[in-house]
Amino acid sequence: MNVTLLERQTDFGREFRGEMLMPSGIAALERAGLGEQVKRLPQTAIAAVEIFRGTKKIAQIPFFSLPVAPTVVPQPPMLEMITAEAAKFPNFKLERGTTVRDLISESGRVVGVRADTVHGPREFRADFLVATDGRTSVVRKRLGAAVDRIEQRFDVVWTHVPGEFLDSRTAQFVFCRGHLFIIYPSPEGHLQIGWIIQKGHFGELRSLGGEGWFAAMTPFLPRDLIEFLSPNREAMAHPVLLDVVCDRLRDWMAPGVLLIGDAAHPMSPVGAQGINIAMRDAIVTAAHLGRAMSDNAPAEKIDTAARAVESERAPEVVRIQELQQLGPRLMFTDTLYSRAMMSAPFVWFAKNFLSGILIRRLSPMLNGATDLNPEA
Ligand SMILES: Cc1cc2nc3c(=O)[nH]c(=O)nc-3n(C[C@H](O)[C@H](O)[C@H](O)COP(=O)(O)OP(=O)(O)OC[C@H]3O[C@@H](n4cnc5c(N)ncnc54)[C@H](O)[C@@H]3O)c2cc1C
Repeated sequence: MNVTLLERQTDFGREFRGEMLMPSGIAALERAGLGEQVKRLPQTAIAAVEIFRGTKKIAQIPFFSLPVAPTVVPQPPMLEMITAEAAKFPNFKLERGTTVRDLISESGRVVGVRADTVHGPREFRADFLVATDGRTSVVRKRLGAAVDRIEQRFDVVWTHVPGEFLDSRTAQFVFCRGHLFIIYPSPEGHLQIGWIIQKGHFGELRSLGGEGWFAAMTPFLPRDLIEFLSPNREAMAHPVLLDVVCDRLRDWMAPGVLLIGDAAHPMSPVGAQGINIAMRDAIVTAAHLGRAMSDNAPAEKIDTAARAVESERAPEVVRIQELQQLGPRLMFTDTLYSRAMMSAPFVWFAKNFLSGILIRRLSPMLNGATDLNPEA
């Protein structure tokens, strides 16, 4: 089959996205026959998560017992690897620097897109369009698709600083006075820091500048982390905002087009699910559309195959999005219940007596909520 991938950027380093692969995402890459290639990418398998309340460590969750640990894999080399593997097929084309602007429809069916390329405007026609254009999807906008939105009360401010902190394999969650910091090592030799803030407050923080931003953070952080960050204030001067959105399309497709990944269902950042779910969508899409299209099926049959992708993937997306709401409900409300759940005695009790139940409950975040199509 001829496949043309249109990508607006000229290199994958220009788009900022997540880098935490869960076992569910690694399984999807293995299913695509890329297991060995993934192992050769720069990566850090996370050995444990330490949970702090202010400066006090209240729990440590080791990942040694997991068959596959959550793993930090920078996206640019991973995407270069995937597209290089795809390019081994003579029918695959990657058009970089090509921005899709609009859809071309004929007789109620999408038959292509209008795009701006490095050589000027151009039309691309296709038997079927798979929209993987992310959380600001232009295809979604042009279709005017109906959306179910789950309101989010927080945003994440990301920054990174050079150097190694801790043992370079441990992540930390630091809860303090209504704030949460997520800290994890990157295989590229820096420390990634996410600060969960109230939705809409980024402008105030950014206006403080690097020095002011550091001063605003320090009251909430453990001493050893402050000492590590202190000489790196300059590096923190340009934080990036992740405007947290969590929603899903009521209908992932229209005649001639299917939306998958963030274009269909941007995920909350809780549990680092977005890449993993997007890759699982892609595997199932390839299985259904591949079968229908390689048989030269008529348009209606291809649409039926696309509908099957939605039926197979939507239950996992719904389940994970629901699970993602639990943490923020506890952290960003100040009820007696939420305070009790986040208290040190409860965390100790949960770790020692409820860990089996918690691991079962959170297992979909690690391993996926549904099985991948065995024929994928
Ligand atoms: C700061 C940040 C941290 C995150 N952390 C994590 C994490 O740790 N783990 C995790 O699993 N998820 C994380 N996520 C979410 C994750 O990055 C996304 O869910 C995932 O990348 C979605 O994949 P996708 O292929 O659907 O979309 P994207 O990865 O967003 O890819 C969309 C692609 O389409 C291109 N594009 C967009 N519009 C057009 C157009 N009009 N024409 C042509 N090309 C276009 C873009 O350049 C991009 O390459 C994070 C996201 C952000 C922003």
